[in-house]
Amino acid sequence: MRVVFGPGAVERVAEEVDRLGLRRVLVLSTARQGALAALVTDLLAQRAAGTFDGARMHVPTATVAAAQDVAAAVGADGCLAIGGGSTIGLAKALSLRLGLPSVVVPTTYAGSEMTPVWGLTEDGRKTTGRDPVVLPRSVVYDPDLTHVLPAAVSGASGLNAIAHAVEALYAPNGTPVISALAERGVRDLATALPRVVADGSDGEARSLALEGAWLCGACLGATTMGLHHKLCHVLGGMLDLPHAETHGIVLPHVAAFNLPAAPDADAVLRRALGADDVPAALRSLAAAVGVPDGLQALGVRHEDLARVSDEVLAAPYSNPVVPARADLEGILEAAWRGSR
Ligand code: NAD
Repeated sequence: MRVVFGPGAVERVAEEVDRLGLRRVLVLSTARQGALAALVTDLLAQRAAGTFDGARMHVPTATVAAAQDVAAAVGADGCLAIGGGSTIGLAKALSLRLGLPSVVVPTTYAGSEMTPVWGLTEDGRKTTGRDPVVLPRSVVYDPDLTHVLPAAVSGASGLNAIAHAVEALYAPNGTPVISALAERGVRDLATALPRVVADGSDGEARSLALEGAWLCGACLGATTMGLHHKLCHVLGGMLDLPHAETHGIVLPHVAAFNLPAAPDADAVLRRALGADDVPAALRSLAAAVGVPDGLQALGVRHEDLARVSDEVLAAPYSNPVVPARADLEGILEAAWRGSR
């Protein structure tokens, strides 16, 4: 996939749109990212056919239907998504349903831009699939746009990216190339995130973090994710939880369960994190960058955990060890309590 990376790269969106031969682009954002949408609308000039600023977490089907109506009304021949995984997810839904190609400008570390994975949520259930049609045609990474990403969102989003690399390292379809990307991505993020959280305008740290997100996103796109992503997917869809924070809370607990059965992955992560105890290092990093302490801090009720286990057990997924119900309940209990 084509990538344009660097401070000021957003200035090149019109060039990227022209390369694809697009003339009427629908600009997508969340309601809170109106200023970013206005910035790219100006840069696109006559190529911007309209704006839809209703992107929402987990891509509700009602949101997609509303965006489809706007795309049809303005005669869009493509989209430009600027924002995090929620906005990029909406662009993917429009690619899936209408065949619209997309240029995306990621402003978090979620990594969706690097994957052919789409997700849609209806009635509390999130459905995902893979389709090459949803892969963005061009990705414009501009670290300058991330300076205003709040510390809490930056930290949680960075842990979300690290989770992609962790699960890629023990994926059944992992490769040495992906392991190399994962190691560097985890190292970049573990180095950059504490600096980013301490000073959001540290340009060097912002570049390193975004590069780490790119690498970790590529790991996600190339491999099959395991128990961690399955758990977070069920938790997010069922309980409407914030995606990145959920990942940041759950990751150390799944790592503690999985890594004893995945010694090669453990060795790579020990090198990348510069630590002997990977789950403890992930917990410390999460705490240092402000990830909430436990699912209960996100408002999850203890009685919801059984439903989560039921849904995780209902469909198969790949993992180094298949957890029994008691294992799952133990992981969820620890993640809920936030037993640091
Ligand atoms: P998000 O897109 O909802 O963004 C998080 C918050 O940050 C939002 O409030 C947003 O408005 C704000 N924000 C974004 N950029 C900002 C900026 N530059 N400055 C200030 N605020 C900013 O969340 P996310 O964590 O990026 O993405 C989560 C979604 O992405 C989930 O739905 C998840 O399932 C999906 N996802 C999909 C894939 C995939 O491969 N399909 C991969 C990762 C995540």
